[in-house]
Amino acid sequence: MLYGVVGDPISHSLSPLIHRSWIRAHGRAAEYLAFQVPAGELSAALETLDRRGAKGLNITLPHKTDALALAESATTEAAAIGASNTLIQTPTGWRADNTDAPGFSKDLKRHTGDISGAKIALIGAGGAARAVAFAVRESGACVTIANRTPERAQTLLERFEYSPDSSAAVGLGDLGSALESCDIVVNATSAGHAGQGFEWPLGRGRLVYDLSYGKAAEAVLIPAQSAGWRTADGLGMLVAQAALSFKTWFGIAPDEEAALSLCRSALEAA
Ligand code: NAP
Repeated sequence: MLYGVVGDPISHSLSPLIHRSWIRAHGRAAEYLAFQVPAGELSAALETLDRRGAKGLNITLPHKTDALALAESATTEAAAIGASNTLIQTPTGWRADNTDAPGFSKDLKRHTGDISGAKIALIGAGGAARAVAFAVRESGACVTIANRTPERAQTLLERFEYSPDSSAAVGLGDLGSALESCDIVVNATSAGHAGQGFEWPLGRGRLVYDLSYGKAAEAVLIPAQSAGWRTADGLGMLVAQAALSFKTWFGIAPDEEAALSLCRSALEAA
């Protein structure tokens, strides 16, 4: 049985490492491959993968929005977020799911406990921030969204109908005051991939959660640690969203701790 991850670029993806380890651990007769598919070519790729009998796919940049549009049906989460990172083959066609949002919630909870009523500063308004904004609203936390392009932050607030009493959208110029007054910071930008970080006020033990991992997360999290913030990278979220996909496809809750240490070792060796 064929499973895999579709994106571009894809060679850096840890998803094959994670899913193959679980497939092996549970003795499943399945293979999990990485498929490099350029922007705009997802439709043709899905037709090919259909013919090859693919049963489930993870979808990453730049195809998450197209995956939802091309699927025959969608879960409530995927439809609300407007993007899909998991496709499930059904007798009538592909069903789109989104496991990024619950994967994020699960991993954030591991670091902070319950976040209802917490004040969250969310940096970023791209695809990943959309899943975070959805998850934060579901958990009953308040949010300030700060983005390089402030209009995208405002659009995100409106998409999830945040109340103006418990939310705000600002540009990065106003990030400082959001960081001063929040309980938790979530960085969902790709700034770290360009080696860029942010200026941190004193953290006083508060948490910064960065969705990226490896070198990209270090660019953001090392200066935050120096300013007294507790930090977490997005590897736990990556594994948690993968575990939810695996459970959907195989009906098995896999060992997340084992996959997390496998990924940490792979990143250290890279
Ligand atoms: P995206 O849709 O391309 O959005 C990128 C975001 O980063 C936008 O808000 C963009 O601002 C902002 N940005 C880019 N360069 C910046 C810079 N130099 N300074 C400040 N802001 C900058 O990307 P995405 O899919 O949301 O991914 C964002 C991050 O989340 C990536 O690091 C990705 O690896 C990570 N991620 C992790 C997981 C996980 O499972 N751990 C899952 C998904 C994504 P503008 O709107 O102004 O362009």
